[in-house]
Amino acid sequence: MLFSTMVEQKKLSISEIAAAVNASQVKSIEISGSNLSLTMKDESEATGRKEEGEALSTTFRNYGVAPERLSEVVISVKDESGARFLWEIVVPTLLPLLVMGLIFWFLFRQARQGAAQAFTFGRSNIRLFAGGEKDQTTFAEVAGLKEAKQELFEVVDFLKNPKKFLDMGAKIPRGVLLVGAPGTGKTLLARAVAGESGVPFFSISASEFVEMFVGVGAARTRDAFATAKKAAPAILFIDEIDAVGRQRGVGMGGGNDEREQTLNQILTEMDGFERDTQLIVLAATNRPDVLDAALLRPGRFDRRVVLDMPDMNDREEILAIHLKGKPIEEGLSLRKVAIRTPGFSGADLANLANEAAILAARIGKQKVSEVDLLESVEKVMLGPERKGRIISDKERKVTAYHEAGHALVAASLENSDPVHKVSIVSRGFAGGYTLKLPNEENRLRTRSQFLSDLTMIMGGYAAEETVFSDMSTGASNDLKKAAMLARDLVARYGMSEKIGPVAYLNDEMTFLGREISDKNYSEASAAKIDEEISVVIKRAYEMAKKIVISRRKALDAISQELLKKEVLEEGEFRNLYESFKFKKLAVA
Ligand code: ADP
Ligand code: MG
Ligand code: ZN
Repeated sequence: MLFSTMVEQKKLSISEIAAAVNASQVKSIEISGSNLSLTMKDESEATGRKEEGEALSTTFRNYGVAPERLSEVVISVKDESGARFLWEIVVPTLLPLLVMGLIFWFLFRQARQGAAQAFTFGRSNIRLFAGGEKDQTTFAEVAGLKEAKQELFEVVDFLKNPKKFLDMGAKIPRGVLLVGAPGTGKTLLARAVAGESGVPFFSISASEFVEMFVGVGAARTRDAFATAKKAAPAILFIDEIDAVGRQRGVGMGGGNDEREQTLNQILTEMDGFERDTQLIVLAATNRPDVLDAALLRPGRFDRRVVLDMPDMNDREEILAIHLKGKPIEEGLSLRKVAIRTPGFSGADLANLANEAAILAARIGKQKVSEVDLLESVEKVMLGPERKGRIISDKERKVTAYHEAGHALVAASLENSDPVHKVSIVSRGFAGGYTLKLPNEENRLRTRSQFLSDLTMIMGGYAAEETVFSDMSTGASNDLKKAAMLARDLVARYGMSEKIGPVAYLNDEMTFLGREISDKNYSEASAAKIDEEISVVIKRAYEMAKKIVISRRKALDAISQELLKKEVLEEGEFRNLYESFKFKKLAVA
């Protein structure tokens, strides 16, 4: 339509057209509805309109056009075109309606989706590990943890051959709780069970039960159990169960109702399934102390599998597992690395193996060597070396005496663990460090060991004070450690004479909500404890000071050596110390 009006055409009135026809100027006329398009004899074109509902010939006759003139003109009639009708009438009226209709449709669709979503909230996003997958974990990938594996083997056996046990009148356990410090392999072990059991293994993290909306947790719990039960015999694994399994009614700061409902639902579900339902619930936590008692009673999680920190042999095995697939130097002794990593969890060791590989790659080596591993031990423990840090001569000297103090005191005491390395290269937050290796074969630690540790910790402070008649902030971390150790000694283990064998502190109290409500000793006892703590620390300090003063020669020698070499390894230190032929001292 736009296009046609763009071509400028003469518009003639009906009387003008009649006159033109009479003057024999018109060649042809095309009629389309009431519109006329004229072509003149001189090939020019024009348009016009005739009267509505009247034949053109009648009109011309009324305007007095001579019939013979009219017969000279070619007159043709064209149908009113459909397209034109569409564009001019249908589209302008229907298009807005159509657009509005579309908008409504979108709105409704959106709303329907929202409503549908509200109904799937209660669905748990439980994951199924089908057996026979490619990269599944096996028991062979889990080092150590012999008892835990044995226990879980049995559980898997229950599911595989229930008849054997049922014939003996034994009941299938319902729940197995894996308990262990972070990184000891709880999740790994559960994954291994998934790989080995050959039954459907469902896994969910307890934190996924809880949402912003009240009631969702319970609904998800129901759904998770229902899904797993349908697939029975099966295993349902709930990771980090302490997220919902906390003791009811002790939390602070509100927002617990939802968690409690979820826990109640778990309790109900575990009671609910019939005795012959072959569903075993596996759960993992590193805080068994905060779990609700109802969760732990027989009939629910009646088996508790404790995952210990790995001992030396386990550590060697774990390292071997994680170094598999990495090129390692021949004759590399993993034993040596294992000896140096007491207190490392499985996760720490996995990290250590990875750090060593990164280190080797960074310095362009082809294989991971023992040196890389040992270097990484300290990196994982204390943070990266900070050789680039600029230290004044005075600061270096203070650090050297401080560390020499620790080392000398440790070496002088009867019950202390052997010094294994002394260094004044700063690492992470530490200006320097003295490593000693606890003897692991004894799990129990005695009072005299604690006191030796405390004395060794005070050694740095005492050395600084003796040599420089001044103290630096470098000892502040030592003092914090000493305070903690002394507190445990007095109030947790009952190892001081004054307070006696009373455990005022226990592990459960680290949970905020309970520490405040359950402080089970009076202000008078608290004062007595504080006093005793300072007495214990003071005594350790005096012992350290006595050693440092009476063995000043050795202190000077060690710190000189440290200033020269920066690092003293076990052998070097021992030779130096033994050249003085001191006697071992006992702590009081
Ligand atoms: P958590 O007990 O906190 O669940 P994980 O099971 O997630 O710890 O362990 C973390 C990582 O540590 C594992 O992926 C694995 O690489 C390593 N690891 C822990 N324990 C062992 C072990 N006994 N044997 C081999 N690797 C282990
Ligand atoms: Mg875990
Ligand atoms: Zn120190």
